[in-house]
This record gives sequence, structure tokens and C-alpha cells, in this order.
Amino acid sequence: MKLKAEQIRYHFIIMLLFFLSMIFLVTYAFLFKYFKETEHQIYDSHIEKLQDDYLIMTGGYTSIANLIFRSSIQTDDVLNILDKLDRATEESVKDAYRQELNAELDDVYAVMKSYGFRQLHFHDSRNISIYRFHKPEKYGDDLTGIRYSVEYVNTNREMISGFEEGRIFNGYRNVYPLERNRRHIGSVELSISMAAITQQIESKFKQESQFILLKSVVDKKVFDSEQANYTAWSVDDSYVLDVNISPTCFLENTITPGESGQIRTALAAARADEEPFSLRIRNKMRSNVLTFLPVYNFEKEVVGFLFTAADDKSIRSQTQSFMAVTTAFAILMLLSLIFMYYFSITNRKIQNMIQYDLLTKAYTRRLIFQKLEEEHQRFLRYGNTYSACMIDIDHFKKINDQYGHQTGDSVLAELSRIIMSRIRQSDEFGRYGGEEFLLLMPETELETAARVMENIRVIIEKHSFSLVGHITVSAGLAEADSNLEKTADLVEQADSNLYTAKKKGRNRVFPSPVSDQNQDQKKTV
Ligand code: GH3
Ligand code: MG
Ligand code: MG
Repeated sequence: MKLKAEQIRYHFIIMLLFFLSMIFLVTYAFLFKYFKETEHQIYDSHIEKLQDDYLIMTGGYTSIANLIFRSSIQTDDVLNILDKLDRATEESVKDAYRQELNAELDDVYAVMKSYGFRQLHFHDSRNISIYRFHKPEKYGDDLTGIRYSVEYVNTNREMISGFEEGRIFNGYRNVYPLERNRRHIGSVELSISMAAITQQIESKFKQESQFILLKSVVDKKVFDSEQANYTAWSVDDSYVLDVNISPTCFLENTITPGESGQIRTALAAARADEEPFSLRIRNKMRSNVLTFLPVYNFEKEVVGFLFTAADDKSIRSQTQSFMAVTTAFAILMLLSLIFMYYFSITNRKIQNMIQYDLLTKAYTRRLIFQKLEEEHQRFLRYGNTYSACMIDIDHFKKINDQYGHQTGDSVLAELSRIIMSRIRQSDEFGRYGGEEFLLLMPETELETAARVMENIRVIIEKHSFSLVGHITVSAGLAEADSNLEKTADLVEQADSNLYTAKKKGRNRVFPSPVSDQNQDQKKTV
């Protein structure tokens, strides 16, 4: 009974530990989710900031472009020259007007450049390039199918602004329709390079910034002679850098190949989803959050990315606390597991000690009495009979005296082994004390039990024990009886029968099986 209580307590503690571990795990899962959410919020704030910066800056440049256009380009003098240029047919005449245009706007272009503008480019109404202030020797090329913005303005006669790749440079373009005396005579473009944006981000927000353009776009649009304006990006060669902005990237030699791979994967996904994204980098760089913003052309295609590197302290401390929490939970879980492991091992050892006799491996006195109690309860409830048998080695004292206690011990162990190998699985065998054993035989009447015990007795008698040779045992039997008040009475009865067996000359079972009794009687007759 006590044993059961101990088992229950043991299982309770194991369950408790298991529950605690589960609580740890669930808490950790919640914390993990919380950390991930906060991390995403931090990333979102970086993305929103870059989106805002980009809008504010391009908007600011567009305002400046509007001002320059209205005050310095949409003037009678300029429009006059353009009108004449448009009407002229001879190239030499056109060239003279080009020089005139250059002389008229040279100063304006110088001012524009000082503000970060790169292109001042005139086109006629048929999308033919008339004059590029940034590349005066290149003109006369048809931009139809190449420059959507120019085509759009010449068709719709309204101003447009946005990013666009070009034959020479890319840039954030503001394209205006040109009109003289209500006659559409072409368009003009005032563009900034993305360098103006990245430099502003760097100087105003103290964040490193870079612009990457899809290589496939450059291959398709840029003049072969101008391909040298671009160089492969070290992180992902499907993108190029505008060498006029910066021939190298600040990420070069500062991120690991693993981080490069991470960026490449994220970029491919972002191109497909057309979504901005942020990610964390750890290696060498002081900055730890990279934010990529897709840049679209007028046809709403992603053609590149603007990205920044920010040193975000909150994500740094967030990472640290997350690591600390993870470590703490890992230790807790580990401790809990170690405790459970040792607790169960120790418990098993204790259980073994409680249940099995160390020397003979038979049940302990405590357990055999518990089994007896259980058997007796079954008998009282269902009427299933059982028998108990007390076994005692004959003259064991002599063995001890003659061979010593240790040899006596080995005899006890050997005897126990023999008996255990001979009994049924359902039988229970325990050490009652000293050299006395108790054998319980469920569902067995006295006569059968006596026969079983007699067989065992004969086997023991014939067995030659190591060191001591032959020994004998005596056994006393008793069958369950509803008149017995307690199990101890049954044991006492078996013990008293053992005493009778001893008295009758030892090496026998009492009561002996009926067949043997008949033989005995015949012998005496
Ligand atoms: P009997 O035939 O009447 O049973 O004679 P016996 O000598 O076997 O009986 P007795 O009860 O006089 O002596 C039992 C002996 O068993 C006494 C004790 O030294 C020995 N004994 C009890 N437990 C152990 C044990 O664990 N190891 C050893 N070696 N001897 C034990
Ligand atoms: Mg004895
Ligand atoms: Mg004895």
C-alpha cells in the first residue's frame, strides 16, 4: 500500500515537472512571438522612414525643378531658340541653334548641378533628342520606346516625374512639355541622379545609403558606349552600381557570404512581391539594419532598390534580451530535464531496493507481503483461491559454520535463482527473512501447490551447489481460507506446517501431495 502511495507521489512530481516544462515552453513561445512582432515593428519603422525620406526628397527636388523650369527654361528666349531649332532642317543650322541654347542655359545648368541635378535634356515633339547638357555631343537619337516619360509628355502634354533609366544615366526625372504660342514643340527633362538622394540621406540622417539598378535594365537601355557608367554590385551581380554615384558599395568586405546570400534571397522575393524589406546584419558593420526600398519606373516596374544601413540600438538591445531570455529558458529546460532524468533514475533505484532483495533478487519481505495482501483481497472478493508456501533451508547454520557466511550468501542466491526459474510467471516469490522464502501461488489449491513444491524440493535436492554440493529444503504450505482474518494468519499456518516438516525429518513438504502420502502409507503397510 505504501509502495503505491510512493509511486503516486513519484508520478505526481514527474507530472509536475513535465507541466512546468510545458509552461516554460509555452511562455517561451509567447515571448518568441512577442520578440518577433517587436522586431517586425522595428523593421516597419525603418521601411516607413525610408519611404518618407524618398518621397520628401524627390518631392523637394521636383519643387526646385518646377522653379527652374518656370523661371529659366519656359522663357521667350529659350522657347524661341527651340522653335527655330524645331523648324530648321539643315544640320549646320540646327547646330548653330544648339550652341545658342547652350549659351543661353549654361549658367542655369551650372546652378542645377550645384543642387544635385545631373540631366538637362531637350527633346523635340517626335521624341528625338535635341540637346543634352550633360552630354552635348550626343543628340539626334530617337527615344521612342526607350524613354517612356518623354513619350508620355509629348503625347499628353503634361508634366510627369519619377524614376527612369536612360540611354546614358538613370535618374529621378521631371519632364515638362514645351509650348510656344500654343504650339507643342517638345519636352525638357530636369533630372537628379540617385546620388543626390543617397547623399542627402547620408548627410541629413547619418545613414549610409546606396542605389542599385537591375543589370537587365541597364543592358537593355543604356548605349553600349555608356555601359562603363555601371559596374557589377559585389553582393548580387544581377544588380549594378552607378559608378558616378559610387563605384563601390559600403557593404563590400563588411558582410559575410552568408549575409550576402540572405540579401540576395530577400531581394529576389522583394522584386517578385514588389515590397520593401528590412533585415539584420551582424558582421563587422556598426550598422545593423539594412532597409531596401524598391524603385519603380514610369511603367510601374521595379528597376532597382534604394537602400540604407542604420545603427538601430533598439534592435540591438532587443536581440540581446532575446538571447538572454533564450539562454535562461534553455538552462531552465535543461535543468528540468536533468532533474527529471536523475529523479527517475534515483526513483527506479529506490523502487528496486524496495522491491527486490539485493542478495537473492527475490521480492523483499515488504513487497511479498503486499502481493499476499492483494492476493487475499482478490480471494475475498472473487473467491479465487491461492496457496502460500514457506521454504526454509535445512541446517543452513551448518553451511555457514562450515563454509563461511559469504558462501552461505552465494547458496541463498543460487537457491533463489533455481526456485525462480521453476515457478510460473503468475507466482510470486520473496525472501521472508534469513534463509526463509515465501512462495505465493495464485489460483492454486493446496494439493497442486504441494505437488509444485515437491517438484522444486526434488530439483533442489538433486542440484549440486557450487562450493557446498547438495543441500535440502523443507516447506510448509497453506491454502487461502475465508475463516482467516488476516494474511498473517495464513503465513503463520504455513510456518507451522514448515515446523512440522522439519520435525518430520526435514527435506520434505508438508502437507505432502496426496499421491506421495499414499505411497508413504503403502510403504508403512
Ligand atoms: P533448520 O534446519 O532447523 O532450519 O536449521 P538452520 O540452521 O537452517 O536454522 P536456524 O534458524 O537455526 O539458522 C538459520 C541460519 O541462517 C542462521 C543465520 O546465520 C543464517 N542466515 C540468515 N540470514 C543469512 C544471510 O543472509 N546470509 C547467510 N550467509 N546466512 C544467513
Ligand atoms: Mg530458518
Ligand atoms: Mg533453516
